Amino acid sequence: MSQIYDRVALIGLGLIASSMFWAIKRAGLAGEVTGYARSEATRDTARRIGLCDRVCDTAQEAVEGADLVVLCVPVGAMGAVAQDIAHMLKPGATVTDVGSVKRSVIEAVSPHIPEGVHFIPAHPLAGTEHSGPEAGFAELYDNRWCLLVPVEGSDPEAIAQLRALWEGMGANVDEMDADHHDLVLAVTSHAPHLIAYTMVGVADDLRRVTDSEVIKYSAAGFRDFTRIAASDPTMWRDVFLTNKDATLEILGRFTEELFALQRAIRTGDGEHLFDYFTRTRAIRRGIIDAGQDTDAPDFGRGKAGS
Ligand code: NAP
Repeated sequence: MSQIYDRVALIGLGLIASSMFWAIKRAGLAGEVTGYARSEATRDTARRIGLCDRVCDTAQEAVEGADLVVLCVPVGAMGAVAQDIAHMLKPGATVTDVGSVKRSVIEAVSPHIPEGVHFIPAHPLAGTEHSGPEAGFAELYDNRWCLLVPVEGSDPEAIAQLRALWEGMGANVDEMDADHHDLVLAVTSHAPHLIAYTMVGVADDLRRVTDSEVIKYSAAGFRDFTRIAASDPTMWRDVFLTNKDATLEILGRFTEELFALQRAIRTGDGEHLFDYFTRTRAIRRGIIDAGQDTDAPDFGRGKAGS
């Protein structure tokens, strides 16, 4: 794979940025990658593990001369970071982000983008429950989707270049409108996370009744909820605060369906339950057929992980 940008700057050095760095290096997609994180501890860790060709002590220094600047901080911090670096952006450069919510990021960042600089929001649909500079790995984006959410009037060449970067990092790339993105992600990611957080919270309350049984016998379903509910609290607080409408819309529908299932259980309506579970099983089949998850039993964990 050939070089796509001379210099890329990663602002925020957590899971997403560190995975980008290793994926960029794997394919030789950039001449130099600079990086900045707000805390000295993170910058020290980055230097120690060789994350970024150059770790800078200020965001301004990191973006100076960069052809691509990637904002990899929590959604609620995007606007302040954009404001901080705006005056250092090179004319003709592209600013992008990796935030899990798009409408609020566009509203927060756009006003700070100077004339002559392209802003192309993006969201890689890949992650783990781990965070920080040591959590990243080069394969995170392999065969995952990255959604580009170009704002009105975006330069087609700048979009094509960013698309090539994500494809070079192993991702499949699609384009989507910001509001549609936020609704789709509310269904596929945001509401499920909230449900997982709630379920683990309920189990924690029950623990007082059952002592350690919840942990000891945490098999199958509950264990997967705990993995999701271990996700970064700052990131997820920001997701719910910034994708409020879409998340509330989906949670409303979820509650209605839950009540319907509750009624079916109470009235012994086995047919309703069976039909419902048959429909959801088909959805799982579709995800596997699309290559977005493994068909192996227990998600491929095998004996070691069980
Ligand atoms: P992370 O591992 O927790 O790293 C976050 C980085 O942002 C750290 O370098 C942190 O700096 C910095 N940061 C935190 N708060 C900040 C603030 N107020 N101002 C400036 N910098 C701040 O997070 P991540 O998982 O890489 O997520 C980064 C972005 O990617 C988020 O917008 C998230 O929505 C999006 N995203 C995440 C996932 C996922 O599954 N994790 C998937 C797709 C997209 P310090 O280390 O110095 O504290």
